[in-house]
Amino acid sequence: MTHANPGRLRLAYARLAQETNALSPVLTTLDDFDSMHHLRGEQLGRACERGAQEAEGFLANAELSGFVRACRDAGDVDLVPLSSAWAIPSGPLSRECFDALTDELLEGLRAQLPLDGLYLCLHGAMGVEGLRDPESVLLERVREVIGDMPLAVTMDLHANLTQRRMNAMDIIVGYATNPHRDHVRTAKLAAKILRGKLRGTYTPTTAWRTLPLLVGGGTTLDFLPPMRSIFRRMRRLERRSEVLSASVFMCHVWNDDPHLGWSVVVTTDGDQAKAERLAEELADRCWKVRHKRPPQFASAEDAIAQAQRMKLRRKLGTITLADASDVVTAGAPGDTTGVLRALLDGGEGLRAYVPMRDPRAVERLWGEAVGTKLTLEVGGSLDPEGSDALEVTGQLRRKQEVPGMKRQCVLRIGDVHLVITEGPPLTIRPSFFSDVGLDPWKADVLVVKNFFPFRIFFLPHSRKTIYVKTKGRTDMDASFGLDFAEPLYPIADVAEWRPTDARRRGLAD
Ligand SMILES: [Zn+2]
Repeated sequence: MTHANPGRLRLAYARLAQETNALSPVLTTLDDFDSMHHLRGEQLGRACERGAQEAEGFLANAELSGFVRACRDAGDVDLVPLSSAWAIPSGPLSRECFDALTDELLEGLRAQLPLDGLYLCLHGAMGVEGLRDPESVLLERVREVIGDMPLAVTMDLHANLTQRRMNAMDIIVGYATNPHRDHVRTAKLAAKILRGKLRGTYTPTTAWRTLPLLVGGGTTLDFLPPMRSIFRRMRRLERRSEVLSASVFMCHVWNDDPHLGWSVVVTTDGDQAKAERLAEELADRCWKVRHKRPPQFASAEDAIAQAQRMKLRRKLGTITLADASDVVTAGAPGDTTGVLRALLDGGEGLRAYVPMRDPRAVERLWGEAVGTKLTLEVGGSLDPEGSDALEVTGQLRRKQEVPGMKRQCVLRIGDVHLVITEGPPLTIRPSFFSDVGLDPWKADVLVVKNFFPFRIFFLPHSRKTIYVKTKGRTDMDASFGLDFAEPLYPIADVAEWRPTDARRRGLAD
């Protein structure tokens, strides 16, 4: 061991994470990290201790506090917090932002050498303007600093793996839940394997396979068919002493890496043949269920017609329209106008609450007095190619500032209450509406720009959820026109996964 405290391990930890929707023109800047989560050194260390908030306002405990907890429980680790930066999903990071955060991480790392090991929390689907495979660039730069010191990494289940990044990591573990609710477990497992490798109790031996699959959405949840049995299989494997971890990475379907696709990774304790065999088995299982497709989503017009019919029978609870084309938590801008337009055209008599991100409209409204009636354009300002702006006439009902989402205004347009936000409208919880004085119980229709997590929180209010496809950056087929190096299912009817896998892992031309 390299340090001054005999018998103890000196382990550093850091995070640089954001999920990028490559189709969104809204660049992610340092300000987006600063306003959500950006901590350094001792400040990070304090945030990761028991009872503290790791990412205040978002998650009390996530990967880094999970890692810290596992190391504290082990009792033989000296922890070195480096830096942690996490932003809301959106468009690619500006080059300046990526360079600044990478430099910060590497400087922190250099200053803390010598170390015995490093843990990094990455997303795995981060994009940077003008830079291909940025997380491999980051990992390679980290590797230059740490040499052959063990490096454990956790990634989101929506990560894209490449041979380049596999080469740079010693240990890789992904979330085992979708939607994700096991950040702590994932990091604890990574900590256990890293510590085992350093203590010589484990010989982590990894095999991976990659699949030409571009499938996301409702058929990829861990607790529903068709993926449920595969997730169960992975948990059963991990209960065997010789299997240290098994992960499936489903990629972010709005990533533009030319080598995009699903991957499976199995790590055994020293048994390469078994790791290969199990990775092969999991890849086959994922491939076999690829044809299970989710139902088609309704158009906004059909969804509103349904809501009109149901209003007659409505007693308790609202209809929730999930705008699957503009999912903010999957990196969409949040400024599409398809649902709003359909509500204004066919939603008469429906009291509806609608979120909309539009900094330009907020700027315009901020100077007006509450109660003012005015005509202005809303939507389509961040992503004019994605959606048209809509001219509306309404009354300004409220102005306020909310952490994370910055300034917000409520504009009443007939029966529609439009919540216009400067920052991303995170409609995961009903408090998005109640925080601006809109009682969710009084609404006939709630519109959310979220895909799944909202369902848990809206359960008491919502008697029916209708998924709506308008047109936006999170349509399942939105990235199908990008230039991928391999044919991908379901863009193409790919019969075999092995030829693509062999090329991606460098085993064939
Ligand atoms: Zn994810």
